[in-house]
Amino acid sequence: MKLIIDESRCKGCNLCTLVCPYKIFREGSRLNEKGIVVPEFNGPERCTNCRLQKLYGRRLCGMCQLTCPDQAIKWVEEERFEDMKVVIEY
Ligand code: SF4
Ligand code: SF4
Repeated sequence: MKLIIDESRCKGCNLCTLVCPYKIFREGSRLNEKGIVVPEFNGPERCTNCRLQKLYGRRLCGMCQLTCPDQAIKWVEEERFEDMKVVIEY
């Protein structure tokens, strides 16, 4: 699972940066095209939901998602790697 912020919904309130126990969100540094500074990730692979949600079959923290007033935080399936095809030419 992969943590994402939906930039079309985020209003840059930074509540997520306050509630995450692992400080996985931090204040952003650039304006997007809507003039909003969306938070950035700081080591999102440390998120218990990203790492362990599938293994345990349930949500393990989710404080950021519960707190976000705009439903901008979600987890998506990561794309599987395509099998590598190697062509050897003689
Ligand atoms: S809590 Fe939601 S709306 Fe606020 S900055 Fe975080 S993602 Fe954006
Ligand atoms: S689910 Fe919990 S640990 Fe993961 S980013 Fe959200 S608040 Fe942080």
